[in-house]
Amino acid sequence: MPELPEVETIRSCLEAHQGARIVKVEVKRADIIRRADFELRDLIGLSIKEVGRRGKYLDLVLSGRGHLILHMGMSGRVYQVEEPGQIEAPHVHLIIYLSNQAVIVYQDARRFGGVWLVKDTRDFFSHLGVEPLARAFNTDYLEKALKGRKIAIKTLLLDQRLISGIGNIYADEALFRSGILPDRPSGSLSRREVEVLVRAIKKVLRQGIEQRGTTFRDFRDGYNQMGGFQDHLKVYGRFREPCPTCGQPLERVRLGGRSTHYCAHCQH
Ligand SMILES: [Zn+2]
Repeated sequence: MPELPEVETIRSCLEAHQGARIVKVEVKRADIIRRADFELRDLIGLSIKEVGRRGKYLDLVLSGRGHLILHMGMSGRVYQVEEPGQIEAPHVHLIIYLSNQAVIVYQDARRFGGVWLVKDTRDFFSHLGVEPLARAFNTDYLEKALKGRKIAIKTLLLDQRLISGIGNIYADEALFRSGILPDRPSGSLSRREVEVLVRAIKKVLRQGIEQRGTTFRDFRDGYNQMGGFQDHLKVYGRFREPCPTCGQPLERVRLGGRSTHYCAHCQH
């Protein structure tokens, strides 16, 4: 599933279209529109003022105060093509034609994602927690969020209401880099461990962005190209491979319904 670094990678690709006007919109599957505060045809003539991101949501801020919000779900892609003839994928649900001749395509084979036409995002994004790369996400914030909680630390990191943008891959990687077992009760972490974990989360997300995201299966960037962070993963997807630190085989369990990778020797 695209997480913060993947959505950020798409966002930076699409920034090139800031200022372009929407000239035509085609919807192939109407049920991909999850909410519409205004009509789809109202998008025509509006320009893209800004390409933003909040958590795992891509936020196209339009002139006239509207927002076109996209979520990639499990398998979604948002990318630009120069020619409509390049749209070859079978699961394209939305096509946006821009005044600069670019065409932006939204496709999602498994349809866990969606498109929202939103007038005011304050309410729409109000359920989302702090951005993990923001200063507001720090040792004090996480320590307070963990206090007294019995829930596994990994499960807590995935709670978008507390921290928005971390998913399965970057949670496993950050916990490995912190030496913390994913199933540790959240409240059992020492302040020192919380500090190390916060630093590891920020670092692994920044590295993910630098490498243009992780392509495990479906992810493609805003040009429909694969990311590069999959070559830098230390534990995710490496069940039974030797731990890069100690050489012991890596473990995999299901935790909170999610496949979880760790080293039983290096993480405590
Ligand atoms: Zn190890």
